[in-house]
Amino acid sequence: MPQGKPAGVPCVQLDADLRCRLFGQPQRPAFCASLRPQPDMCGSSRQDALMRLTWLERQTRP
Ligand code: SF4
Repeated sequence: MPQGKPAGVPCVQLDADLRCRLFGQPQRPAFCASLRPQPDMCGSSRQDALMRLTWLERQTRP
């Protein structure tokens, strides 16, 4: 995604199981490889994480 990943648009590198096709490979973007999930980003459960990520997507939507 040379123009960046817009908010609300899945990354083209996600496979059918929502796993990154580039994980562990040098082609994976440096930003993705440097991301270190933190409790204030992910919360304490999957549902909490999805709520926080949805909020972030809305806040960064063009
Ligand atoms: S880690 Fe990066 S490249 Fe891989 S699916 Fe997520 S956004 Fe896409």
